[in-house]
Amino acid sequence: MIPYGRQDISEADIDAVIAVLQSDFLTQGPMVPRFEQVVAAHVGAQHAVAVNSATSALHIACLALGLGPGDWLWTSPITFVASANCALYCGARVDFVDIDPHTYNLCAKALADKLEQAERDGRLPKVVVAVHLCGQSCDMQAIDDLAQRYGFRVIEDASHAIGGKYQGEFIGNGWYSDITVFSFHPVKIITTAEGGMAVTNDPQLAERMNLLRSHGITRDPQQMTQAPDGPWYYQQIDLGFNYRMTELQAALGISQMDRLDGFVARRHELAKRYDQLLAGLPVTTPWQHPDSYSGLHLYVIRLQLENSSKSHRKVFESLREQGIGVNLHYIPVHTQPYYQQLGFKTGDFPQAERYYAEAISLPMFQGMTDEQQYQVLESLSFVLSGRHP
Ligand SMILES: *Cc1c(COP(=O)(O)O)cnc(C)c1O
Repeated sequence: MIPYGRQDISEADIDAVIAVLQSDFLTQGPMVPRFEQVVAAHVGAQHAVAVNSATSALHIACLALGLGPGDWLWTSPITFVASANCALYCGARVDFVDIDPHTYNLCAKALADKLEQAERDGRLPKVVVAVHLCGQSCDMQAIDDLAQRYGFRVIEDASHAIGGKYQGEFIGNGWYSDITVFSFHPVKIITTAEGGMAVTNDPQLAERMNLLRSHGITRDPQQMTQAPDGPWYYQQIDLGFNYRMTELQAALGISQMDRLDGFVARRHELAKRYDQLLAGLPVTTPWQHPDSYSGLHLYVIRLQLENSSKSHRKVFESLREQGIGVNLHYIPVHTQPYYQQLGFKTGDFPQAERYYAEAISLPMFQGMTDEQQYQVLESLSFVLSGRHP
């Protein structure tokens, strides 16, 4: 089976992890701060807080922004559940904004309309999570304009987007948001096995996330309520978690960062070739906004069902049967049973639901060969037209 995503591990990555195993620190050593510096410098952010997953990063980002009971967080229904669950962890409520039919990201126009209504109803969101689906940035300038006007805070869920750019600058530079979150799960662009990071230009947000990732405990006398009792002293000044990243993970991350630009460039080559190979088939290939240089975590096609005798499900099953590890990103979050029980219904976000009925993620990963890519074309061609290309 050709997987839809797969990590790329080099000898240098392996050596970096082994060196940590032989060192004094497996956790809470020098590698995590070094990894944070490398990522912050690369994306152009002032501060970075490494954690054990992007899910944890979203949670502490929400807490740092003060999200709590009585507040609303809005995000896109076409995302991994973690982009919405982070609100529920904080006791806040979730709502969704339908997607743009071209980029499949949260639609800035739909956001503007919903904000107007929410202002009348007195239920404006405190936080909006803008998810850069497939690695393509949301329309951050428009979202930031709305944030200024309505007074909400913005988290970029850039789990798909490290190494990508918006308006010519790396995603994560924080021009149009408060905090940006990255994921380093093995299917994502770079990996630390499990892992995530939150970057920000606000020192207070960074300090608060730093505290929350490690039990709410500080060793900084400046943050304490009294002078230290002695050199052993620490204080718990907030209720935090153990969301720390290990030294092994950070060393792997540092080593992977050396190849980030090459990873994204290779994904662009693969995407361009897919665009060409698929041109004659009844599918819609990904549309890229001119402001965007996508990280291209995913290559999602939409079936033109009106031009095909095969159902979405049939095409998907046939591809899997032919050894193509296709996937579907994502099932609209508001249709998950947990969210339906919160009151959401099928039909609430029609663009998202239509997307779900047509989308298929084709294999896309660093080590994918031209031959494997041709195999994807052959299999897709076979199921859609009954012929080989
Ligand atoms: C993968 C992903 C996450 C969660 O990342 P983890 O590191 O696995 O916790 C969150 N949001 C999006 C959009 C993702 O794709």
